[in-house]
Amino acid sequence: MNVDWLSRLPGPLRATLYFGLQQGIGSKIFSKWKKLQAWQRFSVAELDQAIEQSLSHLLIAATSQSAYYRQLGLTRKPGESAQQFLKQFPILTREQIRTHFGDLVIDPLRREITSPESVAKNRYDWLVVKTGGTTGVPTTVVHDAEFRDWGRATRLLSQKLCGFPLGVRYFRLWGSEQDLLQQTEKLDRRVLKNLLGEVSMNSFRAKATELTHHLETIQNHRDIQHMMAYVDASVSLATFIEDRRLPKPKLKTIMACAGTVTQEWREILQRTFQAEVFDKYGSRECADIACECSSHTGLHVYSPNVFVEVVDEAGQPCPPGQMGRLLITLLNNVTFPMIRYHIGDMGIWAEPAACPCQLPFPKLQSLQGRADDMLTTEDGTLLSSVFIRHFVGVSLNRQLISEWQFEQTGHNIFVFRYIPLKKDGLESNLGQLQSSFQTALGKSATIQMQQVAEIPPSPTGKSRWILNRWNK
Ligand SMILES: [Zn+2]
Repeated sequence: MNVDWLSRLPGPLRATLYFGLQQGIGSKIFSKWKKLQAWQRFSVAELDQAIEQSLSHLLIAATSQSAYYRQLGLTRKPGESAQQFLKQFPILTREQIRTHFGDLVIDPLRREITSPESVAKNRYDWLVVKTGGTTGVPTTVVHDAEFRDWGRATRLLSQKLCGFPLGVRYFRLWGSEQDLLQQTEKLDRRVLKNLLGEVSMNSFRAKATELTHHLETIQNHRDIQHMMAYVDASVSLATFIEDRRLPKPKLKTIMACAGTVTQEWREILQRTFQAEVFDKYGSRECADIACECSSHTGLHVYSPNVFVEVVDEAGQPCPPGQMGRLLITLLNNVTFPMIRYHIGDMGIWAEPAACPCQLPFPKLQSLQGRADDMLTTEDGTLLSSVFIRHFVGVSLNRQLISEWQFEQTGHNIFVFRYIPLKKDGLESNLGQLQSSFQTALGKSATIQMQQVAEIPPSPTGKSRWILNRWNK
């Protein structure tokens, strides 16, 4: 059934239908969206109080209902605020999530969510989420319906901050596995996409043919002036347009996602698309965490949904201006408490000050996250590394492989290095990974699967998971 006509309905009508359909599938995103509006109007004191309440609720639930937290025997001292109590909690690493997956789940759902393979009975309920992770160690977590709704609501806020609130149409340069595997998207997903006014472009393939096609798509939709994109995929497209001296399409704004927005990348995007660039920070396991506003002086943390800490090596809080490790607490994911989760990225707090955009949420001055190399395709264009992370996140069996690295070593030659944990089933898992990579990189690509005892550091000495030694 063709549902493309929905995208041509007026924006406000599409917005109403979007919330209606979400409700139809069991999502309560509309009420979260309303709450999110209220939070945006809070004073600093009101915000602090609201955070205190959410955090308190989460910490009580975790210490009383999650076996993992219960056995830690943490108790809140009289008069201690939730934010002080939080400091008693240990940092939650990927390793701990992997080891204690079942114990993290709260008591009422422990029989239902027993392993990363568990599936909910209801259509819209908790969901097991697999991610490649920012540190090369794949992670599996659970999001409950409440958190999923908050995640969707914060995505709408990101769009609003980036100049295209719900109802305004946009391009989405993203990795679509369905497209790659030539599967048809489900009807409800297609309807939602059209109601959002989204025009998708697949970034999992980035050869000249595809990039030309993306450019044509942009040129054929002159009415659309915004783009949501994997930052490196949008840079790949911009580089292609510049290198081949193709006509530069004009956009108003770009939401740059899933990677560190370097000054160099920001400039090439501004130059090619003449667009205002917004850095958006998030991850699959934590949803949207923070986003730049129009004052471009940092990224506002989404306080209604996440509590962010910046700590030094000793675990002590970093003052504004000092770079430290980010710890993320998901405030609305009670079913599977993720408290002080070590996401693997670094950040710096901005000095607290009122922002011209009037959002009360605190700001991260800058972030240092994933810094993968882009890969070079057979015909010389650049390919986002996100799809490698995606396929590793979805296909890699964490019981069998502990760490990995993907490197381009020559023209159309790639090496997947891995540290095995077990032998049983390893071969079939490697086969699955290899065929995913082959689908994305093309049948002519040579992909070597190489077992190693240790992952070699990159030439710069920094640990990196996706490298392009050939194009350096
Ligand atoms: Zn602001």
